[in-house]
Amino acid sequence: MRINRSLRLGIGAIALTLAATTAACGGGSDKSALDNAKDGKLTVGIKFDQPGLGLRNKDGSYSGFDVEVAKYVAGKLGVKPENITFKESPSGQRETLIENGQVDYIVATYSINDARKQKVDFAGPYYVAGQALLVKADNSGINGPDDLKGKKVCSVKGSTPAQNIEKNYPATQLQTNDTYSLCLEGLQAGSYDAVTTDDIILAGYAAQSAGTFKVVGKPFTTENYGIGLKKGDKELRDKVNDAIEAMIADGSWKKAFDSTVGVSGYQAPTPPTVNRY
Ligand code: GLU
Repeated sequence: MRINRSLRLGIGAIALTLAATTAACGGGSDKSALDNAKDGKLTVGIKFDQPGLGLRNKDGSYSGFDVEVAKYVAGKLGVKPENITFKESPSGQRETLIENGQVDYIVATYSINDARKQKVDFAGPYYVAGQALLVKADNSGINGPDDLKGKKVCSVKGSTPAQNIEKNYPATQLQTNDTYSLCLEGLQAGSYDAVTTDDIILAGYAAQSAGTFKVVGKPFTTENYGIGLKKGDKELRDKVNDAIEAMIADGSWKKAFDSTVGVSGYQAPTPPTVNRY
């Protein structure tokens, strides 16, 4: 009896340790985003290196339009901004982070498309961007995607701009990194001729580097930014869509844009209409 009891306790302790280890490793949870919100806390995926959109500041705070959208939505789900844990969500990892329950939702310049919709759902769009090019300020040879033949162009793994270049501009020497900040370093160092992603992201880098880089050409794709959610959670998607509509209707969307991306002179466009697919 005694042995059995201590054996049982021992197994129980091992099971507990394993559970704790899994949680500590960020293995994600089975709890839905709405359940987490009911408990008063949310984990939200954003970019950490995109000024104006999603940025982790030196003091550990977060700023940008995506951060403001994330906070507004959390507020509508009953969660205070100080109870949000922001998690870095590089382009190529977003679907996996959502599928594994490591984040409750993602607001990270995340284009809605059919391939991604196989794995995750989207609320939105809350913004419409377009792919563009960033070059050094003194480069006059690249003015649009047709000038990229034979050029070294950097983008990010798993992003729609990288896929577009691969598919539609095959004569380009596409190089991919995990983040846009790594592309920027290479552009600065002269390893790349251009960096490509959405206009609004590139504008943030150009503004930050004053006179070093410039955005060239007209946007050549349409990128509808959505909020990435666990696939099949219709209740969550409806609530997040309601939140985006409210943010646009009550003026918070414009205010958030003007105080983030808009600070460098970027004009807020007309907000999009939410598409409840
Ligand atoms: N909007 C594009 C995408 O979702 C490019 C920006 C990004 O990589 O986050 O892939």
